[in-house]
Amino acid sequence: MVKLTPMMQQYMETKEQYKDCILFYRLGDFYEMFFEDAVTCSKELEITLTGKNCGQEDRAPMCGIPYHAVDTYLSKLIGKGYKVAICEQVEDPKAAKGIVKREVVRIVTPGTNLNTQMLDETKNNYLMGIVYIDNCYGVSAVDVTTGDYFVTEVDSNRKLLDEIYKYMPSEIICNDSFFMSGLDIDDLRNRLSIAVSALENWYFDEEICKRSLKEHFSVSQLDGLGLKDFNVGVVAAGVIMQYLLETQKNALTHLTSITPYITSKFMLLDSSTRRNLELVETLREKQKRGSLLWVLDKTKTAMGARLLRNYIEQPLVESVEINHRLDAIEELNQQMITREELREYLSPVYDLERLISKITYKSANPRDLIAFQSSIAMVPHIKYLLNTFQKKSLKELNEKMDSLEDLCELIGTAIVEEPPIAVKEGGIIKEGYHQEVDKLRKAKTEGKTWLAQLEAREREQTGIKNLRVKYNKVFGYYLEVTNSYQNLVPDTWTRKQTLANAERYTTSELKELEDVILGAEDKLFSLEYQLFCEVRDRIGNEVKRIQETAKAIAGVDVFASLALVAQQNSFVRPAINEKGIIDIKEGRHPVVEKMLPNDSFVSNDTYLNNNKNRVSIITGPNMAGKSTYMRQTALIVLMAQIGSFVPAKKADIGIVDRIFTRVGASDDLASGQSTFMVEMTEVSNILRNATNNSLLILDEIGRGTSTFDGLSIAWAVVEHIANPAVLGAKTLFATHYHELTDLEGKLDSVNNYCIAVKEQGEDIVFLRKIVQGGADKSYGIQVAKLAGVPETVLKRAREIARDLEEHTITIQTKEAEEKPLPKQKKTVEKAEVEGQISFFQNFSMRSETNKEQEELWEELK
Ligand code: ADP
Repeated sequence: MVKLTPMMQQYMETKEQYKDCILFYRLGDFYEMFFEDAVTCSKELEITLTGKNCGQEDRAPMCGIPYHAVDTYLSKLIGKGYKVAICEQVEDPKAAKGIVKREVVRIVTPGTNLNTQMLDETKNNYLMGIVYIDNCYGVSAVDVTTGDYFVTEVDSNRKLLDEIYKYMPSEIICNDSFFMSGLDIDDLRNRLSIAVSALENWYFDEEICKRSLKEHFSVSQLDGLGLKDFNVGVVAAGVIMQYLLETQKNALTHLTSITPYITSKFMLLDSSTRRNLELVETLREKQKRGSLLWVLDKTKTAMGARLLRNYIEQPLVESVEINHRLDAIEELNQQMITREELREYLSPVYDLERLISKITYKSANPRDLIAFQSSIAMVPHIKYLLNTFQKKSLKELNEKMDSLEDLCELIGTAIVEEPPIAVKEGGIIKEGYHQEVDKLRKAKTEGKTWLAQLEAREREQTGIKNLRVKYNKVFGYYLEVTNSYQNLVPDTWTRKQTLANAERYTTSELKELEDVILGAEDKLFSLEYQLFCEVRDRIGNEVKRIQETAKAIAGVDVFASLALVAQQNSFVRPAINEKGIIDIKEGRHPVVEKMLPNDSFVSNDTYLNNNKNRVSIITGPNMAGKSTYMRQTALIVLMAQIGSFVPAKKADIGIVDRIFTRVGASDDLASGQSTFMVEMTEVSNILRNATNNSLLILDEIGRGTSTFDGLSIAWAVVEHIANPAVLGAKTLFATHYHELTDLEGKLDSVNNYCIAVKEQGEDIVFLRKIVQGGADKSYGIQVAKLAGVPETVLKRAREIARDLEEHTITIQTKEAEEKPLPKQKKTVEKAEVEGQISFFQNFSMRSETNKEQEELWEELK
């Protein structure tokens, strides 16, 4: 190998240790990348690729970015899933003998990005550790920007996916066996944009994991952290701890606690249910507007916004806890003026959780401290207002909140009100805080007066009318004389620099002054920096108090938001029962009602229990409002279990352990499965995982195949669900198969409902009211008319329908032979025919054929 330049040698040695990262190598005011890294960066960041002499024959490919713009470029790379190692100069280049010493000071990965400006403040940014040992998953999630740190264990792929969807981490670190678990890793990577990487085996050594946790939390036993029963979880948490220590190269003092939990403490929601119910974003546009979160979020702080999102992502299942939350909202609404005052004091509170993390990472600047101070200055007011409330949940939040007056005062006396962002250029420390600072500052300002005096005196003595004392970083102070006055310059002055139209000089007196002034300034700036760091560290030492206070503020914010939303939207407090009864009077869909013009939403009742009212079969034409009604029921139950008031006149909600939904074609087209396959996979998941305490929302099961197959499957599914000996889950089941209404008489717990419509000549009017009984017509042609299908087609459709009504067609299905359907021989009703027409219209697009149906089509033609 040809000899490398010393710098390149240092680069290569460093790079060798961080092979899986892009190395940002600091050279003066730039970070430079070389070789492959340079090629990657120039492509990903759209920056010019150049070359650098490295001692070898070929120049090394190179590109660079200015250090002050590093955050933007860094976030771009992280967003694309890269890891970046930041290598800084760790000694003063002036003092260096030979090549400047450099070290990697931090590795930034998607899950450990601290650049809060690039992160959504209303969302956590989680790093997730997953280990798969002995048929059990240990799962741990951490948000380094807030210090939140969780651990749990789950025993199946499904539940693991539920956890992944709950946290939506930006990065997953795992052991090799996770890749063999059968989970679709590519889907996680590509569709959910999660960076997934396996770590080396030593990370997963149980002893090392335990030790790193014990050392970090300074405990001798993990029992003290509540981790006794989390043998596999501990490994996941330990892996995260080690990974953070490796990448952050920091003491991680802001990780003050770890929260173990069991998943059964929360309502289980699978990924498709989260999406279908549009909890935090809409199904199609993936935006907040139109989601449940959008309706409920009137929070004032970033911490509150994140907490509310967490509430929605994990509804509770214990009535005591739910009622505590409901109590808080009720009491806040009994004292609305105080509630609004509280919200006013919450308004100016910045993101304390992320600020304190920045403070402990020593990356907070003076302005961050002022933002921190102005925020904690609100705490005493918030506490004072909270004193007026009696309910346990609000009292507890008040107790957890520390008024932090000492820290407020510290910043108030030490830091000026409008400090600069820069930490090493002075102007940070308040007058009167430190004698030496005041003294040096005086020297600096007096120096300015001395300079002014010198300028005046020299002008007077030389007669150079426009003589000026000026300053720049390279030449220091100098006297500037324009060319027209050059003849008046005394011999004693020394020339420093020549410009086109002026000359610059210095004198021995000016030089002396410069030394005093600049000396004072250097000393002042480094003293101010030192004092600022001391203040920052003193605040950093109080991280626990601050985090607890921040969490309490978030709690108050969430309750106040839920209370305000309840009041503005006329929500009511639900009663919570454990008898499995869901009784909603005049319920509304919280989102749809907001989208419709002035109060035009029609409310509806829901009644389900574990007895005679377990399954409701809901029929009615397309567009009647079936799916709105079913989702509204699911959302009301979910809202009640997050502890929110609900959109209804009255509601009594029996706690459910899970909500499952199977609605419409979801966005799984990318997964390469047919719509029907996706539908059946979801049905299978529901039937296998639901319990008799679950709530099921099933919309048009069986639609994706031929009518008879579909009807048979739907029929069998209802039988399975309704039977308490098999499943017995409360279910709303919307269907176009009117045959299913026959189940009402056959199965005890099944009841028919339909959404009423009124016929008006050839048109229909949607009444949006749910009534008992089954629909007898589908009104497909009328709905097609509403959709603007041309009149000629409608007319022909009516003719065909009329013809069919006159002919009775007898159909014998293969399925019916094996297991009797409602009627073995069955008259095709108008509704059925309409279904057939649309079926055959799509016929050419389907892969499955059905001989009987082909014959029927021949007959129809
Ligand atoms: P379906 O599932 O029966 O085809 P949807 O539930 O999708 O019908 O409802 C169709 C549209 O009707 C909705 O987008 C909404 O605008 C309106 N709608 C549904 N339910 C109601 C209601 N209770 N009150 C007012 N409008 C409603």
